This record gives sequence, structure tokens and C-alpha cells, in this order.
Amino acid sequence: ASGHSLLRDPRHNKGLSFTEKERDAHYLLGLLPPAVLSQDLQEKRLLQNVRQFQVPLQRYMALMDLQERNERLFFKLLIDNVEELLPVVYTPTVGEACQKYGSIFRRPQGLYISLKEKGRILEVLRNWPEKSVQVIVVTDGERILGLGDLGCQGMGIPVGKLALYTALGGVRPSACLPITIDVGTNNEDLLKDEFYIGLKQRRATGQEYSELLDEFMAAVRQNYGQKVLVQFEDFANHNAFTLLEKYRANHLVFNDDIQGTAAVVLAGLIAALKTIGGTLADQTFLFFGAGEAGTGIAELVALEISRQAKVSVEDARKKIWLVDSKGLIVTSREETLQPFKKRYAHEHEPVKDLLGAVKAIRPNALIGSAGVGQSFTKEVIQAMSSINERPVILALSNPTSQSECTAEQAYTWSQGRAVFGSGSPFDPVKYNDKLFVPAQANNAYIFPGFGLGVVISGAVRVSDDMVLAAAEGLAEQVTPEHIDKGLIYPPFSIIRKISANIAACVAGKAYDLGLASQLPRPKDLVKYAESCMYSPVYRSYR
Ligand code: NAP
Ligand code: MN
Repeated sequence: ASGHSLLRDPRHNKGLSFTEKERDAHYLLGLLPPAVLSQDLQEKRLLQNVRQFQVPLQRYMALMDLQERNERLFFKLLIDNVEELLPVVYTPTVGEACQKYGSIFRRPQGLYISLKEKGRILEVLRNWPEKSVQVIVVTDGERILGLGDLGCQGMGIPVGKLALYTALGGVRPSACLPITIDVGTNNEDLLKDEFYIGLKQRRATGQEYSELLDEFMAAVRQNYGQKVLVQFEDFANHNAFTLLEKYRANHLVFNDDIQGTAAVVLAGLIAALKTIGGTLADQTFLFFGAGEAGTGIAELVALEISRQAKVSVEDARKKIWLVDSKGLIVTSREETLQPFKKRYAHEHEPVKDLLGAVKAIRPNALIGSAGVGQSFTKEVIQAMSSINERPVILALSNPTSQSECTAEQAYTWSQGRAVFGSGSPFDPVKYNDKLFVPAQANNAYIFPGFGLGVVISGAVRVSDDMVLAAAEGLAEQVTPEHIDKGLIYPPFSIIRKISANIAACVAGKAYDLGLASQLPRPKDLVKYAESCMYSPVYRSYR
């Protein structure tokens, strides 16, 4: 191999960190300036470079360039500065990157499978250079974050999620494969855009759509075997539930918008019990928003209650109420409800608005995921606070502008009594001389560790009990000191430790259920998970 190509191979390039011996042995003499820098020094310089940019999108581009130039340095930078750089590599900046993907597009990342490749998907997969893939994140771009249909430009999402699989969960970068399935877009602006990178046609639906997805799943199985985790990401909810139901019995699939969200929120609710007292089964829940997030959380909460209280899931659902755009979900609406809502249609007179629903249902926890900003009004929070000594208020909608209320509003209107969590980050709030640190229900707490657990156990299916195990594994790490500050999640700064613990819980459950194929079962799963995690430190070449 020539030194020149070594410098252009991001997986092996170390830039100025190649030692003199390495430069000599690998035909690099003269191809680099004389200085030899340590990886730490390179990292310091890169961080300064990134910070120079005021515009978040420029920071994003600088980081993507680094990933394509020097992968280990990229991951070291990301891991060591996770709280600062997560919002750049992932939400919110990744959303803007997807919106502008056509114009910032430089080198392709990941694999593109479009309707044009129908009948040839296996061939497409074979063009990918890595043969031992462990995690695929796939999107069809129809519901990117809260931004809607971005078609083929949704690729930023699988790329970003997989960067987190590596940085936070320690899955090797070479084992990660981002995929975008392009079935067209209904986004008029993109269809008109001369720089649009995707198929310029309206979205395929029905049989044409499902045939392409069937072919994709079969090709993945044929090319990588049955132990590759396929994470569905940012599909519109009319496809997301159907695809998950369709494939979960025979494939290793996970939907982060449904299951990942459910696990992170359930973990927050379990942790909140340490403040409000009682068990999950003692609580009444009201969800504002009954889509992928809302019903996904509701189902997992019901499952956890059924496990803990030894009741049927049907019975557990009785204390969980949902509100959608048409009001409280009740039996009289049953005929017109989508299948995933039907289970929550309880006996009650119709209630149109949220405040009315709060007063009627008298919930202990209010969970917002309708994407409607400022819907938890002062009246709503006050009603929650008159029902509960410590009302649990989760404002999950993203981005910040869509948040149901701000942290400050939640604490102020509840007179400092709310146990609050949100989808978007909020700064700490001072109320009556006490400092409240709002908890962020970030899916990144769960999916990297979850994926690692699946990978290290060689699990062949994802069962709901593994998702529960992930939630419990996260909740376990909330200490009394965190609870004291009002937190319902551990600090993100220790995410790799958190991920290793979640991975151990998930893998342990896979072994218990006979779903693990990596035998024998390691004795200490936490230690084992840690030992499997990718380290971005340079290796020396001889
Ligand atoms: P989705 O599947 O489209 O569901 C949205 C739900 O909100 C639907 O049930 C919809 O009602 C309901 N809704 C819309 N407008 C409403 C209104 N005015 N009043 C009452 N209900 C209304 O979306 P999703 O995937 O669940 O995501 C929803 C939000 O949650 C997004 O903002 C997303 O960013 C956020 N989220 C946060 C996290 C997190 O914090 N970790 C994770 C995932 C998602 P219909 O069913 O009647 O249309
Ligand atoms: Mn998502």
C-alpha cells in the first residue's frame, strides 16, 4: 500500500500523529510536514477549529469533514466533548443539515437504495466495502425529526445516529451502515429544487412501497445474516408501526422513535417514582399526543406495570389515557381510530381539550408528544399541581419551539413542585432560591447501549422485555443525589458508563430469554460490555 493512500483512508489515517518510524515504514516520508503531534494535541487543535465557527451548520460540516479524513480523531473529539458536540452531530443541527443536504453535499456517506434499484438491492449492499456489519440505521426520510418529509436528504439522520452508536455505545464504526431508502418525496420545495439529490417523483405507497421494503429486509438477511440490527428511524407513523409489526417476528429490528423513546421515558418515570413515591401501577397517566412517541411510551408503561403488578397488559392500560388531535380517546370514537390507538379507547364521555381531560382524568403524570408548542398552559400545570403534591410533567416535543412548556414555566406554575423532563434541552432554573436542573429525555441515553447489548449477546430478535430491561438499566443509574437536584436521568457526561450498564441489562435479558447466540454467556456482563467498546485511541502501525 502506498503512503499516499494511507493518508486518504479515514479509517487508518493519523495525520501528523504518524511517528517517524511509521512514516519510514509506510512510505510517508515527505508526504507530511516534519512535526509529529500527539492525538491529544490534534484533538485540542480540532476543538479550537470547531469552536471558531459561530454558525452551527459550519461546525457540523467541519465535523463531517473530519470524520471523512480521520475517523479515530473524529470519535475521540466527539467522545471527549460529548455534551458540547452532540447537538452539532445530532439534533438540532443535523436537522438543518438535512434541510440543506443538497447544497452542502460533498462526498456520499452511507448507502442509497432507490426505487430504481428495485430487484437489485442485494447488488447494492454488496457494493458496500464492509462485510461484517452489526448495526444498520435506515430511514425513508418521510418524517425527519419534527421537520417533515426531506426525502433522500434524510441521510444525515442515519449517519448521525450511527456516529452516536459508536461514540456513546462503542459499536465499531466499520460495523455501522447508514442507509436511505428513496421512494420519492412529497416535499414540493425539494421536487422543484435543481440541486435535490433524490428521486424527483412523489412517494411510492402501497404495494410498490412494501415490496421494496420486503426486498430490502431479505437482502440484508442474505448479505449479513440474521444478527444485524436494523434500526428504523424517522419513518412516518403510518408506516412505522406497520413495518415494526411486520418484521419483528422474523428479523432483528428496532424502531427508535417508538421503542427507544418509550424506553427513555419509562426510565424517567421509574426514576420519578423515587421522588413522588408509590409504584408505577399506582399512577394514572395522561398522554397529550398519540403518535409514535405517545403510544410507544404508553405500551411500554403498560407492559412494565403488567410485569411489576402481575396484571394483564389489558388491565394495565386502563390507567393510561391518551389525547390526540380530536380530543380524549374514548370508546365512542373507536370505529374511526387507528389500530394502535384502539387499545386505549376507554369508557368516558368525549372531552375535547387538554385542560378538560386533565380535570376529568386527574392524572399523576402528564406526557406531551403532540408537537404543539405551549400546549401545557398555566391552567393545565396549575390543574396538575392541585391534583398532585409532585406532578410529573414531561414536555417531550421537539425542537424547543414545539415544547409543551419551558422548564421555567413548569417550575414557576407548579411553585417548584413539578418533576419535570423535556425533549429539548433547557438551562437550569432558579425558583425561590432553589436551583432546578431540568432533565432531558434524550433517546441517545438508550439506543447506543441497547444496540451494544444486542450486538455483544448476538441476539437474533428484539423482545419488548429487552426494551424494558434497557429502561430499567437506565433508571437504576439515577442516584439519590440526582433526584435531589430534580433530575430523572443521570448526567450525560458519563454516557459510556451508562451505555455499558444498559448493554449488560439488555444482553442479560436476551440470554435469559434464549434469544442470544453468543455463547457461553459472559460472567460479568458490564465488564464484558466495557471490554467490547470501541476505543478511538490511535493504534500503532509497524
Ligand atoms: P406523530 O407520530 O406524528 O404523533 C403526533 C401526535 O400528536 C398524533 O397523535 C397527533 O394526533 C397528535 N397531535 C397533533 N396535533 C395535536 C393537537 N393540536 N392536539 C392534540 N394532539 C395533537 O409524532 P411522534 O413521532 O409521536 O413525535 C411527536 C413529538 O414528540 C415530536 O415533536 C418529537 O420531536 C417528539 N419526540 C420526542 C422524543 C424525546 O423527547 N426523546 C422522542 C420522540 C419524539 P392525531 O393522531 O389525531 O393526528
Ligand atoms: Mn427519530
